[in-house]
Amino acid sequence: MSEHPDLLAQVFDPVAFVRGDAPWSGKVAAARFARAAEQIGDLAATLDWRVEPERTPEGRAASRLRLEGVLPVVCPHCLAVAPWTVAIERLVVWYRSAAAIPEEELEEENWDARVMDEPITLLELLEEELLLAWPQGAVHDGCALPGPAQVGEPLSPFSVLLQMER
Ligand SMILES: [Zn+2]
Repeated sequence: MSEHPDLLAQVFDPVAFVRGDAPWSGKVAAARFARAAEQIGDLAATLDWRVEPERTPEGRAASRLRLEGVLPVVCPHCLAVAPWTVAIERLVVWYRSAAAIPEEELEEENWDARVMDEPITLLELLEEELLLAWPQGAVHDGCALPGPAQVGEPLSPFSVLLQMER
């Protein structure tokens, strides 16, 4: 193990991060995305991650998350492993409490409002964004099969998981 602290595994402090005023970045092995693992074809694949500190015009702490690379995933359409080009960029805006989030901002689609009282690691944040962006249809050109449901095949464990999240 390296002597450097594992930035992904620490509880993320968005206020301290903005004060630090420096981006963090690194590589993350697909194996660390435990909730997605069953749908990943090669757990040794890595993605590049980056998080940048920002402030909203109102002065709120915000974090711009990026996750990029090619991940071999189980195609939801034909169930073969196919490369998915991941290009996620998402702004997370942090609020002291859920009550502080104006209602219209919960419906905002271009960024996420989060409450900073709920401890979360950077890895968990990145995994949430990965799951939200996960392909629901064919991930590759020329996917020929008509659909994911083969005879007697149950729902993919992943789609069940996504439903449980709600
Ligand atoms: Zn396919």
